[in-house]
Amino acid sequence: MTIGILALQGGYVAHAHMLDALSISWKYIRQVRELAEVRALILPGGESSTMLRLLRETGLFPAIQTAGQRGMPLFGTCAGAILLAKKVYAPEQDSLGMMDIAVKRNAYGRQLASCVAQGSSHLKNPMEMVFIRAPEIEILSSEVQIIAAHEKKPVCVQQGRCLAATFHPELGHDTTLHAYFVGLLGQV
Ligand code: GLN
Repeated sequence: MTIGILALQGGYVAHAHMLDALSISWKYIRQVRELAEVRALILPGGESSTMLRLLRETGLFPAIQTAGQRGMPLFGTCAGAILLAKKVYAPEQDSLGMMDIAVKRNAYGRQLASCVAQGSSHLKNPMEMVFIRAPEIEILSSEVQIIAAHEKKPVCVQQGRCLAATFHPELGHDTTLHAYFVGLLGQV
């Protein structure tokens, strides 16, 4: 069982460290043909507009959409979560549209742009959360479940086999969310 980590731009190395800590094999994904070698895909944080351009240039945009529609588990953190959303605001941009959520980019403003906070989750409470120019999630359907919250706002949500976090679980030491994501593979 190998998990793919989208490695076009951004903080993909930190996700590899998390999977190493869980003794899960992983592979960086930069081309469409590599997607066939993995059972799930992590979309890291970074700059979603840049990733979007590279996803289009490489042909990975439609390939990831198809894989997701066929049931491949997808886990997006921060910019990766923005890519998974159905709608993106501030500014508006295209996205893969894999989850019934709308996200507002850079929603926490400049002052709160980056911080380490304690949030809550039924998986682990409290849960340490690293926010870096995080977006805000608006849930658009009852199929979307809240996995973690911070100050009463959803910061990690799940719809089927897709998971989106506006913070960076890969930047802490807590492997809870990565382990949870790997667990979704058992349901494939
Ligand atoms: N602000 C970035 C964006 O809109 C996301 C930041 C991040 O991934 N830490 O793409």
